[in-house]
Amino acid sequence: MFAYCRHCVMPSTKPDLSFDAEGVCDACRSAELKNQIDWDSRRKEFEELVAQYRGKNPNNYDCIVPVSGGKDSTYQVYVLKEIYKMNPLLVCFEATNRTPLGVKNLNNIKQMLGGSDLIEFRKNPEAYKKMCLEGFRRVGDGEWPNHVGIFTVPVRLAVALKIPLIIWGENSQLEYGGPKAARMKNVLNRRWLEEFGGLLGHRVEDMLKVEGISQKDLISYIYPSDEELDAVGIQGAFLGYYFKWDARAQLEPIIKNGFSVKEDGPVEGTYTNYENLDDNLVAVHDYLKFTKFGFGRTTDHVSIDIRNGRMTREEGVKLVQQYDGKYPKKGAAEFIEFFGITKEEFDRVIDSFTDKSLFELEADGSLKRDADGNLIKKYQNYAV
Ligand SMILES: [Zn+2]
Repeated sequence: MFAYCRHCVMPSTKPDLSFDAEGVCDACRSAELKNQIDWDSRRKEFEELVAQYRGKNPNNYDCIVPVSGGKDSTYQVYVLKEIYKMNPLLVCFEATNRTPLGVKNLNNIKQMLGGSDLIEFRKNPEAYKKMCLEGFRRVGDGEWPNHVGIFTVPVRLAVALKIPLIIWGENSQLEYGGPKAARMKNVLNRRWLEEFGGLLGHRVEDMLKVEGISQKDLISYIYPSDEELDAVGIQGAFLGYYFKWDARAQLEPIIKNGFSVKEDGPVEGTYTNYENLDDNLVAVHDYLKFTKFGFGRTTDHVSIDIRNGRMTREEGVKLVQQYDGKYPKKGAAEFIEFFGITKEEFDRVIDSFTDKSLFELEADGSLKRDADGNLIKKYQNYAV
């Protein structure tokens, strides 16, 4: 049966999200749990961790920080450099179609706090585009190779450059809900990647032979073997395990250090202006989440703001009604141009990944749309 969480606004159609007897979702319960965590002792754990690596090898970096230039990675670099005096190597997997604001923030991240070395991995754009399109058509996710590459490339470079420590950002299962065991984890490893890292039940090898993609095109998307990882002693840690993650609280120090938000209004698909700034195509990815599961990025953001005590549920519902799941006009136009497909195919693929039980239909069974081309959600009643 369809239901919304009685505390936040997350629907029961979100994969891996469970509700308890009181109708509260596990992400909200996680948030309560976060308040019970002894963050002081977690911080000490982190201090002990970084102390093992800081300055140990003067001829190498202390750790790798995977970055996009976005809010989270700017905060990771801030914490590591400013507070823990680490010497990180920043590793960036090139965005699909980076916006000027994304370029500005990536430049900022390598210049802030005295500057850092940064490796930007520029992927083979032809193979990448093929995989994006295949991901779009096959699993309804045009950012599929990006979700993989942002996890594999930093680990591959850590192995190659013999830098054992990798500091990731948030643990998305803790922030957004997911299986209990995964929520309390502090490490990112192959199992985590395969289960949650955006592979959507597919293996990288499934891309073989698609439009002529061969093994050599997939090299950077392959996670290193256990032998390779063990040889360097790779350890990946989530900063969100050691420090209470609160996006809005993190904005202040990073804006002071040059991070730019979107000044001319919210990002398409939500009401915030500080996340997903580097790539407008993310709006398409978020819209597909809406058509598959009936909730979009606004629901994510509202739910986090409610859990962090920054918004009432009532205010959140209003924002969801205003912003969530609108047809992403800007993102769609950019997607169509970037990948060279027709709008007809674009819409047909999206419709094929639309759960018709969640939306209003016309008499002939086709999806009903309002005057702006938006789908109409069936379940509009958020009352608890
Ligand atoms: Zn909830």
